[in-house]
Amino acid sequence: MTIQLVDTHAHLDVTEFDRDRDELISRALATGVTKIITVGTNVTSSRRAISLAEKYPQIYAAVGVHPHDADRAESTFLAQLSELTRHSKVVAIGETGLDFYRNYSSREAQFNVLRGQLELAAELNLPIIIHARQAVREMIDTLGDWVKRHKDTSGKPRGVIHCFSENEQIARKYIEMGFYISFAGYVSYPQNRAPAVAKKLPIDRIMVETDCPFLTPQKYRGKRNEPSYVALTAETLANALGMPLEKFAEQTTENAQKLFKI
Ligand SMILES: [Zn+2]
Repeated sequence: MTIQLVDTHAHLDVTEFDRDRDELISRALATGVTKIITVGTNVTSSRRAISLAEKYPQIYAAVGVHPHDADRAESTFLAQLSELTRHSKVVAIGETGLDFYRNYSSREAQFNVLRGQLELAAELNLPIIIHARQAVREMIDTLGDWVKRHKDTSGKPRGVIHCFSENEQIARKYIEMGFYISFAGYVSYPQNRAPAVAKKLPIDRIMVETDCPFLTPQKYRGKRNEPSYVALTAETLANALGMPLEKFAEQTTENAQKLFKI
């Protein structure tokens, strides 16, 4: 039996995939990746994500502005994103967040585009995909405030912390607020703490992703990452959790389908 997985976070629109995009998508689908969410990082890339979702029934799109792109966001970016969400294959807002490690955009701009997208997600009742790097306290405060303000509205605030690499205590804070925790290929790197953290978390809140073309699992480290490699992340985590791979795949797939309504 082949296992079935969802790659909950891929960047299929990037130029790294230009020469063989269709082949690597077919390869993923043939090896048990049943669904892929391709994630926009600005308005243009979000449009490309939607085009890919139109081409493949198994691909869905998220539309958003990444913290790296915050400085370059047009004043009308929220209206543009809102317009894009009318497409039936758009299942989330993101990715958005805070990145105080790279600091490619000013903190002020990062906060502004994040808060705007959080409000949009609540308004449209869509999940949010969060990128947080070296910004734990700021992110917990911002999301905590968002959840509190919207907890009584019909569209319950919800989302995922993607590429989670913090400790168990921080994971639990996000989970308490209603978020899912998603892990990528770094779980297979030597001495990485993520498998031990994942083991302590409720299995109904864990998801897997590639974040391809980045964060290639250990086995192919140094090469370009692609959606079919999500199986390697699932394998590492299933081992750490002491679960059969099939069962881990089934549960994380169910989690992804529930959050994104796919
Ligand atoms: Zn990403």
